[in-house]
Amino acid sequence: ASRLNSITDADALHFAKVLSSPTSLLSILPSISTPPEELDIYNNDWMGKYRGKSTTVLKPKTTQEVSEIVKWCNDRRIGIVPQGGNTGLVGGSVPLRDEVILSLSNMTQVRSFDPVSGILVADAGCILQSLTDYVAPHNHIMPLDLGAKGSCQIGGNVSTNAGGLRLLRYGSLHGSVLGLEVVLPDGTILDQLTTLRKDNTGYDLKQLFIGAEGTLGIITGVSILTPPAPQASNNVILALPRFENVLPLYKTVKRQLSEILSAFEFIDRTAYDLAVKHGQGRALSEEDVEGAECFVLVETSGGRREHDEEKLNNLLESLLEADEPLINTGVMAQNPAQFSSLWALREGVTEAVSKEGKAYKYDISVPLSTFKECVDLTRERLRSKGLLNEAQVKAVIGYGHVGDGNLHLNVIAKAYTPEIQDALEPFVYELVASHRGSVSAEHGIGAMKTHALHYSKDETSIAWMKKIKAIFDPNGIMNPGKVLE
Ligand code: FAD
Repeated sequence: ASRLNSITDADALHFAKVLSSPTSLLSILPSISTPPEELDIYNNDWMGKYRGKSTTVLKPKTTQEVSEIVKWCNDRRIGIVPQGGNTGLVGGSVPLRDEVILSLSNMTQVRSFDPVSGILVADAGCILQSLTDYVAPHNHIMPLDLGAKGSCQIGGNVSTNAGGLRLLRYGSLHGSVLGLEVVLPDGTILDQLTTLRKDNTGYDLKQLFIGAEGTLGIITGVSILTPPAPQASNNVILALPRFENVLPLYKTVKRQLSEILSAFEFIDRTAYDLAVKHGQGRALSEEDVEGAECFVLVETSGGRREHDEEKLNNLLESLLEADEPLINTGVMAQNPAQFSSLWALREGVTEAVSKEGKAYKYDISVPLSTFKECVDLTRERLRSKGLLNEAQVKAVIGYGHVGDGNLHLNVIAKAYTPEIQDALEPFVYELVASHRGSVSAEHGIGAMKTHALHYSKDETSIAWMKKIKAIFDPNGIMNPGKVLE
């Protein structure tokens, strides 16, 4: 990254010529003179943890504009940080230095939708919620859903290979993304925006950009398969007396609900209390939460309401009537408002954590049976270092996508400090490696985990990742310092 140049006034004037609209260029350089505070939202990440020093934000409206900008930056050796909704949680979407920020937020057109196949082709800057709204009248849904849906963009989702709440049912974006349009680091437009379900014509290049976090090119268009909307959805929150019951519960739920099970999400007691404290969803009654060590949210999505409800009721009955019940109680949504409110208790945890304090977020894949141990050992570690108190670390919580083996281990602190950082790292990464887990289940590597990649990828794999990066981006202009050190 040290070989990269800062942007000059002459560069800014060139960009002003390339961009079709004057409002597409923000720069504090003298020739443009945007007030510095207007750049703040682009330079700061969602958590308030990472802060860039970019002088210039470009918001092109077309793929051609993106291409011309990227070509210029490559010739001039100027670093570029692609930015979507800036909701990423690993510091990938803001510059480490003064790279140019290329925001996709002006590329928001739906290019086509085929209601028969359900294939949607859209600009990368389309917000996930707006695409959900777009396909809804055609009785389709997006194959992914996450708490940040109101701000994150489909290009950002693909670039981070976002998982989220529907992965259990619809699989990862590696399966549902059918094609991509990408501006490569030399400005070439790679048009792989196919709408074919099947295409075995050699190397599947688009897969490289899914989860590349903007290090190999800029995604400008996405072709994605949207599933038909379920005819009936329901959910239930189950209160468990012991964490040890989660695994047998998962087995039972899978067996009994089979094809209608669409989510199985876990929240520990501390995470639940935090969500309630910060007004995410309606609290369960005191009676329902009494003695609960953790909660599981189960969602069903199917074709016929009566059939699904009968299955869900039968499940609840058999769970409650068992000789040694796995659950204390279950609260089932009785109407759409309750359905949303139960979801909010789970989806709202991320938001609640950010309201409570500064979060150290570890998004890990570990065997389900070790979820609690990971949370407990981390808490113990902080206690042994004398850091577990209101003035330093307020809480350690665990929640996440049990069905996918993905635990969000969050440490909520008063402030980000070197002492807490040193107590947590490499401790957490070593813990993950001891279970042969992944240091990033779904959020990516970004700037946060470049030094920790080796805990989950061996030397040969990292060497090949570096070779691929060098082929696409020999000058290292694309999101420098992210994913690979
Ligand atoms: P950004 O944050 O802007 O960027 C993320 C990365 O992608 C950066 O490296 C950036 O350079 C790159 N990038 C962005 N757009 C492009 C593009 N067009 N071309 C090339 N590179 C690009 N994540 C999950 O996986 N599952 C969850 O359940 C989940 N829940 C969340 C809940 C909340 C409340 C929040 C705040 C975040 C959550 N996240 C989750 C993390 C985040 O929302 C996702 O990573 C999301 O996919 C990022 O999209 P974005 O548009 O905001 O991308």
